[in-house]
Formats: sequence, structure tokens, C-alpha cells
Amino acid sequence: MTTLRIDGRAACVPGSATILEAARGLGIEIPTLCHIPGLEAHGGCRVCMVEVEGSKTGFMPACATPVAEGMVVRTDSPGAVAMRKAVLEMILAEHPSDCFNCKKSGACALHEYCHIHGVVKVETGLEKKFRKPDVSHPFFNFDPDKCILCGKCVRTCESLQCSGVIGFAGRGRSARVAPDWGFSFGASSCVSCGNCVAACPVGALMPRERHFPGYSYVKRTRTICPYCGVGCSIELLTSGGRVVGVDPADGPANKGLLCVKGRFAYSFVNHPERLTKPLVRRDGVLVEASWDEALGRVVDAFLRTRDGKGPGSKAAEGEGEGAVPRGPHAIAGLSSARCTNEENYLFQKLYRLAGHTNNIDHCARLCHASTVTGLATTLGSGAMTDPIEGIDLQDVIFVTGSNTTETHPVIGSRIKRAVKRGATLIVADPRRTELAGLASIHLELKPGTNVALYNAMAAVIVDEELWNKEFVETRTEDFDSWAKALADWSPERGAEVCGVAAEDIRRAARLYAKAERAGIFYAMGVTQHSSGTDGVMCLSNLALACGKLGRPGCGINPLRGQNNVQGACDMGCLPGDLPGYRKTSDPAALAAFSEAWGVPLSSERGLTSTEILDRAAEGGIGFLHIMGENPVLSEPDSNHVLHALGKVGFLVVQDIFPTETSALADIVLPAACFAEKDGTFTNTERRVQRVRKALGAPGEAKEDLDILATILGRLGFSQTEAGKSADASASFDAVVSVDASASFDTVVSTDAGAVFDEMAALVPQYRGISYARLEGDGIQWPCPDASHPGTPILHVDRMTRGKGLFVHAAWHPPRESEDDEYPVVFTTGRNLYQYHTRTMTGRIDGLTRIAGEHYVEIHPETAALYGLAGGDRATIASRRGSLETIVRTRASVKRGVAFMPFHYAQAAANLLTNGLALDPMAKIPELKACAVRIGKADSSS
Ligand code: SF4
Repeated sequence: MTTLRIDGRAACVPGSATILEAARGLGIEIPTLCHIPGLEAHGGCRVCMVEVEGSKTGFMPACATPVAEGMVVRTDSPGAVAMRKAVLEMILAEHPSDCFNCKKSGACALHEYCHIHGVVKVETGLEKKFRKPDVSHPFFNFDPDKCILCGKCVRTCESLQCSGVIGFAGRGRSARVAPDWGFSFGASSCVSCGNCVAACPVGALMPRERHFPGYSYVKRTRTICPYCGVGCSIELLTSGGRVVGVDPADGPANKGLLCVKGRFAYSFVNHPERLTKPLVRRDGVLVEASWDEALGRVVDAFLRTRDGKGPGSKAAEGEGEGAVPRGPHAIAGLSSARCTNEENYLFQKLYRLAGHTNNIDHCARLCHASTVTGLATTLGSGAMTDPIEGIDLQDVIFVTGSNTTETHPVIGSRIKRAVKRGATLIVADPRRTELAGLASIHLELKPGTNVALYNAMAAVIVDEELWNKEFVETRTEDFDSWAKALADWSPERGAEVCGVAAEDIRRAARLYAKAERAGIFYAMGVTQHSSGTDGVMCLSNLALACGKLGRPGCGINPLRGQNNVQGACDMGCLPGDLPGYRKTSDPAALAAFSEAWGVPLSSERGLTSTEILDRAAEGGIGFLHIMGENPVLSEPDSNHVLHALGKVGFLVVQDIFPTETSALADIVLPAACFAEKDGTFTNTERRVQRVRKALGAPGEAKEDLDILATILGRLGFSQTEAGKSADASASFDAVVSVDASASFDTVVSTDAGAVFDEMAALVPQYRGISYARLEGDGIQWPCPDASHPGTPILHVDRMTRGKGLFVHAAWHPPRESEDDEYPVVFTTGRNLYQYHTRTMTGRIDGLTRIAGEHYVEIHPETAALYGLAGGDRATIASRRGSLETIVRTRASVKRGVAFMPFHYAQAAANLLTNGLALDPMAKIPELKACAVRIGKADSSS
């Protein structure tokens, strides 16, 4: 530690600190226009000049000068201030003087510093004038006249985002910021993250938003990005009842960075197609109706299905018994990984409490059900073991089945930063993703061969005695039987199955095993297979064998897809799990929830989402409630889904926009989006974070919590304010009579905080968390009591299940392999610019401009084999359906493989995928591998 004095105050800081950092530690603000915390000092703007006693020149740039023992610094001496003013005057002399019209006003650092220092513009004739603004990018403009050449955008792009798109061109008065050495931003390789825009201290790089009134006139609400599971913190900027912008916030997951979706894809909030009134189906057509009628019909159908009767139910009258399926088995609900924890908790409570059913599921079935099952089996907890910041410590990073820079972009950038500082990257993926391009080893394996690859790597670790003997002995069980079972798995055999080089398997295994700190990151390229759970357990085996668990910079990290998919699982929106993963089959758990909610609960395991649809197709589902999901596009085999939903007795869809699924509904309930409600999301690293209401919902749309609580109230479960005791009589409604046998002990609140508190009291992992404690950076569960700080790293002293369990998994090929009739392996995924089924991102004009068109990616040689070239229209057919799409030839795709993003309704990739190939344990469908044939579309010519 080094001791120095700044403005007469003593500071004691690490010897590596700069004067700027030491001053900030004391709360002394030194102006700077070019400094980026966390990056090497740039020292370019010279606004941070301070007086340093005894230094050669007397003055030093605070951002670039390391502290020294006994140093005496004055930040406010007349000399330092004069020097700073001179620098500001020089910058201002070149800068346009139209602050009055500049929308950056209110957030412009130059403006602020000039104001503080009393610097006014002096006409010198040096002002940059009339260089043409670059308006080519869909989301932001660049005004070169306003650019002060501080280099923050260049260094942010190069060193934080790690895209390296922006540079400088020219010299002297001609010097300018230049994407890709001279292209416009729109024509460059810019990935539209907007991190350069956020870094710009002046109004040179500015978001393009018609309704943005300027920073001086916006309200800021700190909340969480509604897209992927990274859980980036954002500030929503609102004005006049609209979201008019997003600024990144310095949250724990993102440290001030965002991706294109989090930064720019917010205009869906105020989109004119938002659902604003309930819709009911009359004479086959969805028409607007009152909430009273819509909810009356919902409750009516619910009771009719559950009980076969419903006092006050007109629809039930005149119908013969057996005309529609009856009983709790015929009721089902699909919850939403986009909704808050509180909403998901109340959703499952509604169906368990009032429906006496565990037929509750959500989209985790399609992404990480195999993680929940696999890691729960081997470690006792199906969640990411390490914090995102653990990446910064890792020597080796093994990314498998994850196109991280597109699906979890902010984590992708963090991995790229780790590679820049010297970490070794290993990537296993059938495509040469951006990370694969940076990797020391790219294992370009055939889709569906993960288990073979991991077993072959494990065999190397066992054969070469690279495993961590102490860890294995003290922290694990069943090592010997597992190691024995690997005898069949030579790297040569792995190479043959996977289509990679045996030597690469050896190198990858050695690198991972020998690293001091190594982390595994995986996503749906591992989980969305009929062997998904096996793949997850095999990765767990690698981590256990090498002792890469329970300490910083290690771990096994499933990257969760949607913003709150971790939370929806935590909240018990699963057919066999109550909140907190307490099993419905566990009598003690069931008794605890029964007692808390005041009704007996069913112990019978419910149906998964795929099973619900299969049951529906057989005519066995009388009532299905889908909240914030679009299974017509997201579930495999779309034709089967359409058929199944068509046979549901009564379909309720609750969403923010009309979707392909809501088009089939009997009732559509308009809901509030993330910006219009309070609550919490739990991100991929188990961090529970506050979501805050920035504005009201449009029209008559209601918060999901309100809708669910009202339904519960109409079903006889009292709807009261938090803290008040339930009053059964108050919950009765004229529209529907109430099941007299229902218990009325349960408080059903529309207050998100009260719902959270109820949930936390029942869920051990959340027990110590409260809204008051979430005001800062959120808390990572488990957090067992109010004084517990949360748990960034799992399994530190013991695995959640006690000892880590080795489970050998035999490899089997995908259920549907390529053959003469269907010779190409078809795999699906996401791209950077779209999100899930495009309900939100499909309504963002800029994203449509960049990535609005569906496509298939094929290796040029594979394309040529079928007479196709880039830009052609191709027909792709599987045993379940066919579609037409545009061919993109990409050398980055393995030969014999076709990749298609599943986002686009116009060419729904899930028309082709195999809904019958399920993982036997997790029931996740094999979305990542089926067989197709490809040909030139008739319409191509
Ligand atoms: Fe949002 Fe994910 Fe992008 Fe972060 S990385 S801004 S959470 S979509």
C-alpha cells in the first residue's frame, strides 16, 4: 500500500493505483474526458492535470500517473486549474457552439467541465464546421464536428467490447474517428452494441430516437435488460409516457456494457401493436371485450374443466358430460421466463392451489431442463456455479455448445477480454463461431456428438493421470466405476465419432486439466439433445475429475437463455418441483407448501410442456393458460403444436403482443411489459436483481401479477393488500361462483414485494433476500438468512448434495441421423439481433433492417452439392415439414450441416425439428439435430 496526500487529505491505496483512482477513493472528483475505468491509462485529453509537488514539470495527468509514497498532490491549486482551463479552452475552440440544440446537453462532460471552470468559447476560427454527419447506422448518428478525438469510443470498441471496429484515420486537422478505416458506421462490421455511444463524453455519437427530448428532460429508472440471461443493468430513459432511450448502468453482470438488444431494442414498449384490451373469441373471431367478461370466461372455463361444473357458467349448460376433458389432469399452464419471479411464483401457485395440478412448465424445458436435471444429479444444484466475473481469473476457458458472442454478448465480450489478457480458449462447436475463431483449439464436432467428445477428453485425463487426486478423494464419489467405464473411449474413437482430430482432443483435455483455474461455459448446443442430460453430466465429470469447482475462476457454467429463466425454475414453474426445487414427490415439502397455502396439494408429477402438447393433441387438455410464451414457434414440430393447440378445450394467452399462439386463443389478456412493473429477475449467475416500473401499461393492459391475483380472487382465494389478513367474503365475484371447498387462508397480493416476501419465506435459497437488500447490486442465491451476503461460488466446502457424483454416460447418436433420403444434419440456434420468436425484436425497425430476413447457413461445398449458391432460395424438408428460405454460404459451418435461426415465423425452423426425440430424463426435445434434405426452391428461378 502507498500513502500520499491529496488536497491535504491522506490516502492509502495499492501501489498500482493512479492519482485519479486515489482521488476518487477520497471522493475528490478530477475532471477527465478520456479516462475509462479498468483500462490502461490513455492520458490523451490532459483535462485531468494536477499539481504534484517535486515533479519535474510540476503538473502531471492524474489518470496516467501512478501514486508514490509520500506524494503530495493538489487537484485545485491555481496552477492546476489554470492548466485545466487552458486545455478546455483549446477543445472548446474547435467544438461547435450549439449546446442549446444539442440533445447531449445535461449529460455532456465537456459542457459540464466548461461550466464548472467558467470556460467560455473564444472565437479562434478553429471551429470544426459542416463535416457531414454519418447517419448510416440504424441506431445512432456520428457527428464528426462534435468529436473531440478523446479516443474513448476507439478504446471501448477495441478493449472492452473487443470488436476493434473503430479506429483513427488522418492526422492533424484531418484526424477523425473511422470505423473499419474509413467506412460509414452503417457499412462497417460494427455489431451495434452502442458501447461507443455510451462512452462518448460529448454529443458526437448519439442514439437516434425521434422522441428523445435531450438528456436534460428524461427520467431515469434503473432496471434490468429484458432480453438474455446475462442480466445487464440498464437505465430506462422515459419522457412523456414513452421509453425514449436506454443507458447502460454499472451493474455487476455488465460493468457498464450492453449489447445491441439491451441498448437499442426498447421501442417495442410503445409499439402501436401492443395488446391494450382483452380479446374474446366470438363467432370464431377475436374481438375486444371488457376485463370483467374476459376473466369471467377464463374462470368459467377453468371451473368447468376442473370440476365438470360451474355455477354461473353459461358455457357449461347444455353440454354433455365428457364433451370436454375434465379434472385437474386436464388443466395446464405454461409460465414465462420473461416475467418476474413474483409473477412466476403466483402463476404456479394459481395452478397448484386452485387447479390441484402440477401441469406447469415453461420454456426452460426447451433450453436448460437438462442442466437442471444433470447438475442436480451430480452436484445437487442445477445452476451456474460461478459468478460471471470469475472469467477474469481463468487461465483456460472451455466454451462448448454456445455461440456466446451472439447469444450472451456481454459475457462473450468478457471472454474475448480474457483471451486478450492471455487466457487459453477451447471451443467445441459445429460452427466456427466468433469465439472459435479466437480459440487455441476449435473442436469442430458433428452435431449430436458432445457426449463422445467429453468422454474422450475424460479418458485422456484418466489415462494420463491428470485428475486431481485430492479433490476426487475428498469431494467426490463413484470415480472408480466412472473411470473404468471410460476404457472404451480412446481419443481416436472420439475423433471418429465427432469428426475432429484425436490430437486436438488430447490437447484440449490436457489444457483443461492442467490449468490452475479453468471454467466451462455451455448453452443449448449441449442441452438441446436427446442426450442433453448426459452431456451436462459429462461436463460435470470433467470439472469434478480436475477439481475445477468450488474456488474462484473455476466452475461449470450453464448460460441461461431468457432474462428470467433461472428465476422461473427457482419459482417452481416445473412439473415436478415446487418453489426452491422442493420435489412434489417429497411429502415434507408438499406438507410445508400445503400448510402455507392452506390447501392440500397434489403430489403427482405434472406434464412437461412437450407432454402437455402431446396430451392436448389427444384431446386431453380442457384448459391451457399460456403466459408470455409463443410455443407455435418455439416448440419443435410446429405443425404438431398447431394441431395440439387447436384441440385444447379452452386456450388463454396472456401476452404483450399478438403472437402466432394468441391467434389460436379463446381469450387474449393484455399484459404489462418489463418496463411497466416492479419485481425481480434472477440472472444466469443466480443473481436476484430488482426490476423497476418506469411507466404505466398501455390502454387497459394490466400487470401479470394483477391478472393472476384477480383470477385467484375470482376462484375464491382472497385478493388483499399485503399484510392484511385474507377475507374470503371479499373475494367473491358476481361473475362466477366459488368452489365452496376452497380454503381462504391464502393471501393473494398484487404487491410484488409482498409476493416476494411470501416466496422467500418458503424458498430456502431466497430466504435472506428482501427488496430492501436488493437496492444495490442484487444478491446471488443461496442466501439463507438476512445477514448472509449471498453466494457467488457454489460448492466451496461441500457440494450441495454432499459429494460430487461421477455418472458415466454412454454416447448414442441423435435420434434422427442423416440418411440417403435426408442427407444433411439440421441444427438451429439464435443470432445476435433477434430474440426468441421476435415478439419484441421483430418490432424494432433497426433490427429488422440489420437482420429481418430468415436464412439458412451452409458450407459452400455443401451448397454446391445441391446446386445452390449464396442468395438462392432453398427448400428444406424434414420428415415433419418443409420451408423455403434464403441460402447463406458460410465456410464457418461444418460440411454436411445446415444451420438456421429459429426466430423467423416466415420460415419457422421448428417446422423441421423433431418433437418426438426427447431426452429421457429432462424431456428436452432434440432441437439441435435432425435430418433434412435441401434443394433449390421452385420459386428460386
Ligand atoms: Fe441484455 Fe443480454 Fe445484451 Fe445484456 S447481453 S444487454 S442482458 S441481451
